[in-house]
Amino acid sequence: MIEVVDAVAARQALGRRMLPCPDCGAALKPWGQARPRTVRDLGGGLLTVRPDRARCTACQRTHVVLDAGLLPHRAYTVRFLGQALVSAVRGHGHRQIAAELGAPEGTVRGWLRRARHTAEQLRLIGVQAVVAVDPEALPTADRGDPLAHAVEALVAAAVAVRRRFGGGPRDLWSQIVLLTRGRLLAPSPSG
Ligand SMILES: [Zn+2]
Repeated sequence: MIEVVDAVAARQALGRRMLPCPDCGAALKPWGQARPRTVRDLGGGLLTVRPDRARCTACQRTHVVLDAGLLPHRAYTVRFLGQALVSAVRGHGHRQIAAELGAPEGTVRGWLRRARHTAEQLRLIGVQAVVAVDPEALPTADRGDPLAHAVEALVAAAVAVRRRFGGGPRDLWSQIVLLTRGRLLAPSPSG
């Protein structure tokens, strides 16, 4: 799986063999499309997407090329998930968040459980990115809540990357998807 800023640009790059394999760095080639999927965005809108697939010309592994606004195997946009995490950091429980956003309680509960489980890894990804780009932007407040630390570090990293390099996705959570390589709810292979 490869997260990209712009799926259209990525398709052109793929066609020109300019997209590198995340496993070995060799050129990827087009390899059809993944099954269509419908994802829910903030405000209740539905998007149907059909991501491109790519195959490595060297190691032969296949990858799904996913827009950075989306997460693998999730039926919601990352903006939607991000809003749920921000609400949780503000002290809202999963039932309240589910009602606020219009998502099933069990889905929200699952997100929060996973995010809390991996909060320390997420925080480290955020902190490392901030340190690499702009150490001055490192959050210093002690919030007591590991998920709050993680969200704060990831947002600080996304802001710092945007300030330093410009461009990138418009949505901060899409930038966070790129930073975490699509593993916002599962940073480690075991998670
Ligand atoms: Zn490869």
